[in-house]
Amino acid sequence: ASADADALLAGLNPQQHEAVTHTGSPLLVVAGAGSGKTKVLTHRIAYALATGRARADQVIAITFTNKAAAEMRERVRSLVGPQANRMWVSTFHSACVRILRREYRDVPIRSTFSVYDMQDAQRLMALTCKRLNLDPKQFNPKLFSRRVSDFKNELITPADAAAQARTDFEKKIAEAYRLYNDALQQAHAMDFDDLIMRTVQLLQNNPQVARTYRRRFRHVLVDEYQDTNHAQYMLVRALVGADDDDAGVPPAELTVVGDSDQSIYAFRGATIRNIEEFEKDYPDAHTVVLEQNYRSTQNILSAANAVISANAGRRAKRLWTDSGDGAKVIGYAADSEHDEARFIASEIDSLATENVKPGDVAIFYRTNAQSRALEEIFIRTGLPYRVVGGTRFYERKEIKDALAYLRAIANPDDSVSIRRIFNTPRRGLGDKAEATVAAYAHDHDISFGAAIAAAVDGDIPGLAPRTMNALRDFHATLNEVREFATDASPAEILDAVLDRSGYVATLRASDDPQDESRVENLAELHAVAAEFRETQPDGDLGDFLERVALVADSDSIPDDDAGQITLMTVHTAKGLEFPVVFASGMEDGTFPHARSIDDASQLAEERRLAYVALTRARERLYLTRAAVRSAWGMPQQLPPSRFLAAIPEEVVDWRREVAGAEAFRSTSETSSRLSFGSGYRPKTSDTRRVQRAGAVRATEKDEETIPSLEAGVRVLHDSYGLGTVLEVTGQGWRAVASVDFGDGAVKKLMLRYAPLTKL
Ligand code: ATP
Ligand code: MG
Repeated sequence: ASADADALLAGLNPQQHEAVTHTGSPLLVVAGAGSGKTKVLTHRIAYALATGRARADQVIAITFTNKAAAEMRERVRSLVGPQANRMWVSTFHSACVRILRREYRDVPIRSTFSVYDMQDAQRLMALTCKRLNLDPKQFNPKLFSRRVSDFKNELITPADAAAQARTDFEKKIAEAYRLYNDALQQAHAMDFDDLIMRTVQLLQNNPQVARTYRRRFRHVLVDEYQDTNHAQYMLVRALVGADDDDAGVPPAELTVVGDSDQSIYAFRGATIRNIEEFEKDYPDAHTVVLEQNYRSTQNILSAANAVISANAGRRAKRLWTDSGDGAKVIGYAADSEHDEARFIASEIDSLATENVKPGDVAIFYRTNAQSRALEEIFIRTGLPYRVVGGTRFYERKEIKDALAYLRAIANPDDSVSIRRIFNTPRRGLGDKAEATVAAYAHDHDISFGAAIAAAVDGDIPGLAPRTMNALRDFHATLNEVREFATDASPAEILDAVLDRSGYVATLRASDDPQDESRVENLAELHAVAAEFRETQPDGDLGDFLERVALVADSDSIPDDDAGQITLMTVHTAKGLEFPVVFASGMEDGTFPHARSIDDASQLAEERRLAYVALTRARERLYLTRAAVRSAWGMPQQLPPSRFLAAIPEEVVDWRREVAGAEAFRSTSETSSRLSFGSGYRPKTSDTRRVQRAGAVRATEKDEETIPSLEAGVRVLHDSYGLGTVLEVTGQGWRAVASVDFGDGAVKKLMLRYAPLTKL
């Protein structure tokens, strides 16, 4: 081997060495967190290149999130240099989009097909259910959407689903599935699950296409293999050519790495089976087990091992480290989520004296909504932070509107997008006009966009002259921008369409302060488009939309600023590492999540999620909880997470083991560690006790002091600030108000609890 190759092996332990140099049969690397699985994968690629066994363009490496893919690409590039650009290092979804765009003729679909995200898909499903005259109360479109997603993850076609359906309910779902897919097809669109399923079908049904890719990709590598679902599993098999032995092309070399203790996507159909039965699926497979952890100190590892070892039926593995005990894990029981946020902020502040920079710190939470209390304190104290995923930039109304315009430009048959902007901004095309056009489209089996063109040609009778004018103008707008788009950049097209449609002008003319920030957000989108053009000079509108569509909610922000605290959900954190980690919200009902507590298999998944959280930490780990946390404006008392109880006492230093408010309750309930996980449930009367303790702001008002509110009234909330009441339901003690606090934050508040003042 060359000097290059030798250098790649230096510093690897014997098992890692074996995994990096193995050739001749499929390779499985299984190991706990931080043992160098991703390192082995990247070094294996570099080693194959250095020894001349592979060319860069023969490599496809796949992982789950854009963030993980970017990180992997970076690691590979630092090992092999610019030739890394010729490899496919991407997520499952982007790899599939690339294949589908090239092979669109055999799919078949238009090369400019749209990709619908979850919200778009749910919208389309809602329309489908409406067409089926299903009562949304009895047949929830979101549930239908999830079930269809499950079907696709299992590669079950609408025909299969119909054949399997036994109950009426299942039959309805199967029918909705078929109609929903027809609607997608007609809109020349795919949802996220289609990207995988259609690629698998493409490769299975077109052996010559499959062979093209097999000839090209001689090295297939998959990180986080424990999170693959059935469709992804079949995709890997098809790429490798495991089921095709008379191809004249031998199967590609397959490497998968994973850890069944970190499987956290069962809700998307992931199955640990794929890793556990790898040796059965690939009979000549070679397995390497890694045991040394290089990431964390012993105290952190002991805490993580203790949490995961409570899961039944797992293969026990012992991770060890030679990096020493390190600092103890620090625990803190806060009174409320605000108190918890204060503790975290002050702790980060004092860590600065030990040369810990904000960029070294990550804070994890179970659900996105938990970021709010943290954000408030960081804004107030001026600590720099970023929220990964939770910003939901791409879910803001104005961004979705603008993207709908762009998609309508790129794909005239994209019905969901065109219907979204049909009367946005208001142009006199109300529900009735939409229904008339939609009915015509349905009757003539054409897309909504095509029906608009027909209307403009005078083919749809019964439209009022005013409606006709509006339709003509809308149609002309889209056509003009389409023409302009043929040789304009995505940013220019965006400007043109926002301008020509009157979208920005309407926002500017509004005196709602929110609309001002909407304009700013659109400017931000313009910046995204301009930046896209810099990184991809010949990228067209279709490429831009594809990039945007694939920025899954988890990872919209590039990882270039080392100077900010990172806030993210545990799901997003998988595969990453940070010197300092705060795992917040360690309460029963928060983490584990309330809906998982009564289900053994869901609880096991929550435990794996906790294992993922704890094992991200390199040097310092904090576990924090709040005794009272608000949801929907209602304070809830939550007992300590049962995961805390598993952690050996000697590795944790409790700064505060019992929250102030809890001390007022009978001591047997919470003052002893033994009571952790005792199943203590909040009772309404306890809220008053908390109030007496003065620990939290949440107070229960007497009936006569409940503010009387109505839609349109401005209010001031102690933590959310200024807001406008949208609607009030119920009376007196039962009154609930929906309040818009700006930026899309609409809260439902129980007036008897909410610290709300009428202005
Ligand atoms: P996860 O399960 O969380 O994805 P992983 O098994 O993929 O973890 P890596 O991210 O590859 O682990 O490695 C964890 C850390 O250990 C990284 O910082 C990596 O550089 C380091 N590391 C791995 N192997 C070695 C080694 N032989 N010598 C020094 N450092 C190592
Ligand atoms: Mg990894």
